[in-house]
Amino acid sequence: MPGFELFSDLERKEVNDVLDNGVLMRYGFDGMRKGHWKAKALESELSSTFNTKYVQLVSSGTAAVTVALASAGVGAGDEVIMPTFTFVASFEAIMMLGAIPVLVDIDSTLTLDPSAVEAAVTSRTKAVMVVQMCGSMGDMDALRSVCETHNLIFIEDACQAIGGTYKGQPLGSIADIGCFSFDFVKTITCGEGGAVVTNSEAYYTHADHYSDHGHDHIGHDRGAETHPFLGYNFRISELHAAVGLAQVRRLPEFIEIQKRNYTILREALSQIPEVEFRKIPNGGVESYAFLNFFLPDLDTTRKVSEAFKENGVDACFHYYDNNWHYIRKWDHLKDLKSLFPISAEVKEGLKYLTSKTFEQSDAFIARNLSCLIKLSWTEYEVKARAEKMAQIITSKI
Ligand SMILES: *Cc1c(COP(=O)(O)O)cnc(C)c1O
Repeated sequence: MPGFELFSDLERKEVNDVLDNGVLMRYGFDGMRKGHWKAKALESELSSTFNTKYVQLVSSGTAAVTVALASAGVGAGDEVIMPTFTFVASFEAIMMLGAIPVLVDIDSTLTLDPSAVEAAVTSRTKAVMVVQMCGSMGDMDALRSVCETHNLIFIEDACQAIGGTYKGQPLGSIADIGCFSFDFVKTITCGEGGAVVTNSEAYYTHADHYSDHGHDHIGHDRGAETHPFLGYNFRISELHAAVGLAQVRRLPEFIEIQKRNYTILREALSQIPEVEFRKIPNGGVESYAFLNFFLPDLDTTRKVSEAFKENGVDACFHYYDNNWHYIRKWDHLKDLKSLFPISAEVKEGLKYLTSKTFEQSDAFIARNLSCLIKLSWTEYEVKARAEKMAQIITSKI
């Protein structure tokens, strides 16, 4: 991660195909296209890569989560269980549909704790959204079992775990409906883009129509298409899809490089008894996009994080003090800072956030460092980095 590090002639060729015929839109203009349908080709490629029946490309990962929730019928007043450690897109998408994000603790997998999920279920709960953070995953069997017991929709955000697997299945394809992001910093990128994947024909049809103003996409005349239900515009462009098409074909190569670099770093840090790695559920194989580990306490973790920065070990994140990924710094959510009035239902539903504490999540995130694995490092650079990281950690413990 990220795929842009290795842009090549393959990406250029796909983009040039689109510029040659000039059709930047994914639908219509059949005569002008000279046979180029980049979004359709990318959907078909993703469908085999992620071993899933249906794929709908959209304009971003945030759009993918929104479209996935909408396609599964999540809306006004519904509670959606999500983790305290994720990207802001999770609650943004839930709230956009008038639903209520119910934040629950994570465990040592750095994803949803199945027992915290179980404890948070109410009569208003409609869905559980697992977020496969930093290249690994939750205990999918345990989470699915909670969903089955309570008849809940199971949604999987695999934006940060492209290429990881659980019991042989690609992450993103395991729950009822899955989401990917192909934004600029993800393992494969379109520049901006995302995908909804599912084996449910109904969810797919919903996603296909909803992401394009409710169009039914029947026939070859957009003006004559009917709108079976309301929709919105979350379309991807042909230019973005073209970049993604070249990138997805290179995914096996990217995962190999990530694995090599991750393994060198992990082996170096394994020599330090105080370093503890995140838990990978049984049957899980990481995408190796990040190396995550725990240090003994908050103070040490802060010191190591600072020393990493001072000594040029970049892209290692201490999410406890970071605005993007953890509840602790999400004041705009806790204070409900919205440009427009929020529904009374959502306001009421989010009151808990002003007082609720998440000690279990704090205990993990305070001690966690999450180091991005780059694709462009040479083996020599990774080895030097591994040595430097180990030295710094040893000197601060
Ligand atoms: C990147 C990301 C998203 C959102 O994707 P965008 O394409 O940037 O909108 C959603 N969830 C997670 C976990 C992400 O990392």
